[in-house]
Amino acid sequence: MNTQDIEEIKVLLATPKKIAIIPHRNPDGDAMGSTLGLLNYLLQLNHDAKVIAPNDFPDFLKWLPKVETVGIHETETEASEAFINNADVIFTLDFNALHRTGNMETILAQSKALKIMIDHHQQPDDFAKYMFSDVSMSSTCEMVYHFLDKLDALDKVNAEIATCLYVGIMTDTGSFRFRSTTSTTHRIIANLIDKGADNTLIHNNVYDTNSYNRLQLLGCALSNLKVLPEHKTAYITLSQQELRDLDYKKGDTEGFVNYALSLDKTVLAAIFIEDKKQGIIKISLRSKGGFSVNEMSRAHFEGGGHTNAAGGKSDTSLESTVEKFISILPSYSKALNNE
Ligand code: 5GP
Ligand code: MN
Repeated sequence: MNTQDIEEIKVLLATPKKIAIIPHRNPDGDAMGSTLGLLNYLLQLNHDAKVIAPNDFPDFLKWLPKVETVGIHETETEASEAFINNADVIFTLDFNALHRTGNMETILAQSKALKIMIDHHQQPDDFAKYMFSDVSMSSTCEMVYHFLDKLDALDKVNAEIATCLYVGIMTDTGSFRFRSTTSTTHRIIANLIDKGADNTLIHNNVYDTNSYNRLQLLGCALSNLKVLPEHKTAYITLSQQELRDLDYKKGDTEGFVNYALSLDKTVLAAIFIEDKKQGIIKISLRSKGGFSVNEMSRAHFEGGGHTNAAGGKSDTSLESTVEKFISILPSYSKALNNE
């Protein structure tokens, strides 16, 4: 996004517009933090703005400022589509290919609204008039902060916006420890605290609201952990039965894969979660150093993401998905053992 783009967006946003703000399907902390952070800004400018999520999101995000106004396309399809069809502007945040919105793909692709993408994933599709895409960024929330800076709007960052953006930076950086965390990230976080983000409260709201069942599910995941030392790889499986037995709720498995990656000498970690309703195995891949799970997921699991964190899926059984995963490891042996 160049200076000319910014000037055009400033003119665009100078008069009230109808604006839809869209995160990806199964929105995470960065997707909800960035969309709600931007919403809280656009509402100050008197735009008719609304966040419309493809589907529901975890309870640990359901306290964010203005979260009660979020529309859910999966359950409020008619109202969501009416809003999108009448929108002048659509912001797409924290994803870079329209299929990542699931059933919203068609309505977004057909919409004549002016699209603005803000995203940090690799290999963006070309669907937006204005593209703010930067894979070096820790999070889309960090990018929204830079976006507001470019719009000369940092004076509009209040405690609500600061809280939303803090959440996404915190969750996407694994609480400020991943490689994408820079000194600039920390400077922005410091500014957000100055603007009113309560760091202790935010951390408690997101991470310290475990249910007893979630901890039991973590215990189950850890006892299913398998290690393949010759490939510096560790993986976890969770079957639908195990999820059912422990009363699985959306978001409960968030972060489980990091336990596999935390093993000494592990370079690649995976979690395979059976979803019988969708008929898929949801896969999360994580890595250390230069080993690209984005590349692995694109090549074998219909997904993508970042170098060190990617998602994907498989349409076969849990067992055969794991077999496939193990069978492709030898072709990555050199790369894994070089890390
Ligand atoms: P997670 O494993 O937490 O679902 O996702 C890890 C990262 O990969 C996130 O940045 C997420 O947005 C991205 N990601 C997850 N699933 C997919 C997918 O199916 N396709 C692509 N391109 N990215 C994904
Ligand atoms: Mn993100």
